[in-house]
Amino acid sequence: MKFVSVNFTCQSCGAPVKFSPVSGKLKCEFCGSETAINDTLSIIEEYDFKKALQDLSKNSSKLLDKDIVCSKCGSSFMLNPYSVSSNCPYCGTPAITDFVQDITPQSLLPFMISQKEAQDRFRKWAGSLWFAPSSFGKYLESKDQLKGYYLPHWTYDSHTDTSYQGMRGDIYYVTVTRTIVRDGREQRVQMQEPRVQWTPASGSVPIAFDDVTVGASKTLSRAIIDAIAPWDTTKLKPFDARYLSGFEAEEYTIGLDNGFEYAKAKMQIVIEQAIRRDIGGDQQQINSINTHYDNITFKNTLFPVWTAKFEWRGKTYRYAINAQTGKIIGERPYSMMKIVFAVLLALALMSAIYYLGGVSDGMSNFTFESY
Ligand SMILES: [Zn+2]
Ligand SMILES: [Zn+2]
Repeated sequence: MKFVSVNFTCQSCGAPVKFSPVSGKLKCEFCGSETAINDTLSIIEEYDFKKALQDLSKNSSKLLDKDIVCSKCGSSFMLNPYSVSSNCPYCGTPAITDFVQDITPQSLLPFMISQKEAQDRFRKWAGSLWFAPSSFGKYLESKDQLKGYYLPHWTYDSHTDTSYQGMRGDIYYVTVTRTIVRDGREQRVQMQEPRVQWTPASGSVPIAFDDVTVGASKTLSRAIIDAIAPWDTTKLKPFDARYLSGFEAEEYTIGLDNGFEYAKAKMQIVIEQAIRRDIGGDQQQINSINTHYDNITFKNTLFPVWTAKFEWRGKTYRYAINAQTGKIIGERPYSMMKIVFAVLLALALMSAIYYLGGVSDGMSNFTFESY
């Protein structure tokens, strides 16, 4: 389907501008002048979850392949159905299109970390990895691999009330008589041994959750997307397409209802901890949990992420950096050569020390951790 794309232009020279994480302004790559983005004063609203689910159109997804014509050079190119912002592959001009899903982001966190800073952080991180292949470090030198994405997220609020039934375990000690062998002779001795006294426990814990964040994109694995959290949602800005300029941006491919299932799983972990505190004692068993979720509200928002892929020996590794906080998460390759070499070196050192030490009494002091 044909889509119109827009880009924003420099007030001084008319060239395309991109959002700069360094200044927080739109920057002209041609003449260098910057234009501030004046945020509208609108507050960041929460939306009613149940009402939104009712209003969602029946045909689940509206995403279609997008046929884009560059507003600068006139070339046409294709965008993924879920992409709303990219750069023209021919002239590099930003191309921003419309969101098509039922719910569009009303807020976002702008990029705070530049591509150069992200690259430096990736390189430092890669350098700190033991036994990574050398080509891994070299790969990170090429900055083209590092792409900036605004990834869609849901945030959920809810007042929860959970009733539970379980058992509280209190440890007490009993004196027992045991037979032990001392100096080759059997002896009867008295000892203290722990026992657990279980008593039934039940109750309810109310917890109000605020902005439980759930990734709504499939571009990164859930493990990575969860690991680069937390996000400081007090810094959310009202949505403005100018922030997307120069970056990739996506709209949600994990729906509002599915997203809430993930949010519930995150809330359940916190609820269980609260139940264990409520039961008290030394040990707890939880036998049943029943949670009511009231006053559920949500936001659809965009969070900034730098990410790169690394192919090594037929396997793909992904890295991501939270472009608000700088937190880095990555899958990493291991170099078998380096590991084998380190083991051989360790063995050589051990046998040298063994030889110098003469007999076997020194051996028990060795640990591999020192290498
Ligand atoms: Zn300019
Ligand atoms: Zn172009």
